[in-house]
Amino acid sequence: MIDPDSDVGADRLGFELDRPKEECGVLGISTVGDDAARSAFFGLYALQHRGQEAAGIAVSDGRAVRIHKGQGLVSQVFEPGSLDHLVGGLAIGHTRYSTTGSNSDRNVQPYVVETMHGPLAVAHNGNLVNADQLRIGLLERGAGLQSSSDSEVLALMLAASEGASWEERLGNVMHKWEGAFSLVIMCGTKIIATRDPWGFRPLSFGKLPNGGHVVASETGALKTIGCDNIREINAGEIVVLQGQVARSHQAIMPKDQARCTFEQIYFSRPDAEWDGMNVHQTRQKLGVELWHEHPVEADVVMPVPDSSMPAAIGFASASGIMYNEGFVKNRYIGRTFIEPTDELRRQGVAMKFNTLNENIFGKRVVIIDDSIVRGTTSGPLVRMVREAGATEVHVRITCPPIAHPCFFGVDMGSYEELIAHQLGVPEICEHIGADSLGFLSVDRMMKALDRTEGYCNACFTGSYPVPVQLNLLTTKQRFDGVLK
Ligand code: SF4
Repeated sequence: MIDPDSDVGADRLGFELDRPKEECGVLGISTVGDDAARSAFFGLYALQHRGQEAAGIAVSDGRAVRIHKGQGLVSQVFEPGSLDHLVGGLAIGHTRYSTTGSNSDRNVQPYVVETMHGPLAVAHNGNLVNADQLRIGLLERGAGLQSSSDSEVLALMLAASEGASWEERLGNVMHKWEGAFSLVIMCGTKIIATRDPWGFRPLSFGKLPNGGHVVASETGALKTIGCDNIREINAGEIVVLQGQVARSHQAIMPKDQARCTFEQIYFSRPDAEWDGMNVHQTRQKLGVELWHEHPVEADVVMPVPDSSMPAAIGFASASGIMYNEGFVKNRYIGRTFIEPTDELRRQGVAMKFNTLNENIFGKRVVIIDDSIVRGTTSGPLVRMVREAGATEVHVRITCPPIAHPCFFGVDMGSYEELIAHQLGVPEICEHIGADSLGFLSVDRMMKALDRTEGYCNACFTGSYPVPVQLNLLTTKQRFDGVLK
């Protein structure tokens, strides 16, 4: 089984697309029987798009914790027989995006640490903005750190926290963590999950037909495993899964909500339900708003596959301009471990996409895309469409210009790398060689989401919901191993 959206290996091989990179997907399972690992494995497949560089599952039978993890896709990390020794009714899993630094093995999750209360396994999605201070605090108290990941900091602070139970220890320590954390831990006979009080990253849970429960980053993973009665875990809420029982309490008061808008725009799978919305439908509405804000006379609307397809459908239906496909995506190019020649590497985007010339020749084309980060993909795509015979090429983007880095777990690049931090819209249009370029405004974007507040838009506005030091390392720098 192959994940159709995979760009795995793209960074390494030079076929990287200009997209924000999500950091992680997490899940946790408490079920009857001793085969939680199998459900976790298939759940991780449904979270593969949230992290394609590493994957892992830790399993517990209530006494011992066993783990299997490594770098690569879920299908590459888990071979036939990998699950055989993962015996137990509790499991947590993780998919991770990371750069391919030499130290990245140490950052592969789940983490398992021995504590005086027994083994503790941790899977984390997000990024703490005060991780540096927390890390220094741990080092000053004599703790040894093995990785550059925030998740290890979370695990060690949790292990050292006061309390009679793990949920009490979690409740007592989580107010010290500033930033994004959707966290799943496995301890003793329980799975415990929580979201940060700002609610940056998604986390939901549902019920299995056999009475067990599953928590996962996206509802699609819950449905894949067979869950119903699905609901979001609230910001600041702690959910405890034990046997067939699920209980929850509000551990800390929610702050002003700051859901990551990019979950709606790009990260989440179209079948995800998030904030009461279906992501596919939200993307269609983004396309409708994009047409109203940046109308253009054209003959055909075409998406950059795959995440822009719903928005292109919305743009086409609102405008009356025909929808058609103009790009064929090579879904497997990033999978090869055969290094390309320099000449092939230079072709970059052309190795990922071919054009359907018959749908393009002689036409005025609107390309719909979900974001421009560094500006390295749009130019080659525009050029390919012109070479296929388009008479005009207009580009429409379903979010505002990304002019600020993310410090909450998404690799956007640094200020220097962001093209919208360096150039205005007319200059970006010239840079990519389009006849016109239109970005959706923040107001129109939020109109499509039918919300006026409750979302983080910091990468567009520079207004961070949690104070950050702008000289703080970005998520990518952190995982590049700048922090040792
Ligand atoms: S800065 Fe952008 S990518 Fe980061 S959490 Fe906020 S909306 Fe999401």
